[in-house]
Amino acid sequence: MLSCRVCGGNDLDLCIDLGLQPWCNNFLKREEIGSEPKYPLRVFYCNKCSTTQLDYTVKKEIMFGDHTYLSGITKSLSSHFKNIANITINNYFDSANKSAINVLDIGSNDGTQLKHFMDIGCNVLGVESSKTTSEIAKSNGIPTINKFFNKELAESIDGKFEIINAAGVFFHLEELHSVTEGIKHLLSEEGIFIVQFLYMKSIVDNIAFDQIYHEHLLYYNLKSISYLLELHGLEIFDAFLSPIHGGSMIAFVTHKNTKEKTYRLMKLIKQEEESNINKKSTYLDFSRKISDLRVRDLEYLGKAIEQGKKIYGFGAPVKGNTLLNYFNLGTETLQCLVEKNKLRKGLYSPGMHIPIVIEDELEDLPDIYYVLAWNFKKEILERNSSLIDSGIEFYFPINPSIFK
Ligand SMILES: [Zn+2]
Repeated sequence: MLSCRVCGGNDLDLCIDLGLQPWCNNFLKREEIGSEPKYPLRVFYCNKCSTTQLDYTVKKEIMFGDHTYLSGITKSLSSHFKNIANITINNYFDSANKSAINVLDIGSNDGTQLKHFMDIGCNVLGVESSKTTSEIAKSNGIPTINKFFNKELAESIDGKFEIINAAGVFFHLEELHSVTEGIKHLLSEEGIFIVQFLYMKSIVDNIAFDQIYHEHLLYYNLKSISYLLELHGLEIFDAFLSPIHGGSMIAFVTHKNTKEKTYRLMKLIKQEEESNINKKSTYLDFSRKISDLRVRDLEYLGKAIEQGKKIYGFGAPVKGNTLLNYFNLGTETLQCLVEKNKLRKGLYSPGMHIPIVIEDELEDLPDIYYVLAWNFKKEILERNSSLIDSGIEFYFPINPSIFK
């Protein structure tokens, strides 16, 4: 029987079914094409704690043993991380001696977030499961443990941390409760845990269903993540919504009953209540909107192909593969995916097998760019204004309202 990853209850209902999909970070070498396994991609709603979640778990050793996502790669992400470091220090540690502040980053990737804390004068430590990215972090001078973070690992680390950060990992976690206990264990008495997560309310508002993929086992609103944290003696006292990743919640957490809840947090909680975002009916409605989006885009792309237009995908983000597979878009529609991350050079998208071409090496231009990396809309439109002026269309399948 299916049990909820957060509350353990058994009263869950299927809301969204995106079919069988490959693990979407599994970019393929030519000889691997067609050999990739596929797994169910389905979102269930828990009637007890309201957490939306996948029922099927692709093992973490498969998903996070080695990955090619680099957080330092985009300007907007790096400046977001800088902003987070500054906000945290200015708001909560303004008068503290910076060299006495220990910062732990869980899922520290290439060390981009920690570098900003280090620049302020803090002591930093990263935990990162991917070998490739943790090697990059180490070569940049960021102390990094190349392991999965959980309670056991937490207990092997000496000392406490004034700041613990987890950006975009809290929904990956197979060992959800062990990780949360590890954080509780390592957080100093007045310490602050920053949890950054894709905000399910933004996903629903933007119909950004491509954020649903196997690495994201859980999709939180403030209500559901609070439920989880409170099970482990932690609570959110402050939060704000950031445009990063198309809509992320940045929540500040402490040990229970140590800090008063801020006005802006109370306002966000009220917005959740008023929008019915924590109700099942919202997710059934979301599922219908996803189907409508598919019909709309297939019509648009079909017409463009009929008119003889050449279409390339813009970006080869991990999440793009959910969309490509659910829409069943292959090379007959998108000839290639144009990408900046050189680690994906020469690879093919899982499931639909579209070749990836590195932006600098592109030999010709399409009539239409179908933008899979839509969360960088502002940056993309600015950077490509001359292409747009020359008549190339940038089509965004998903339009984040947060930028409007
Ligand atoms: Zn539950």
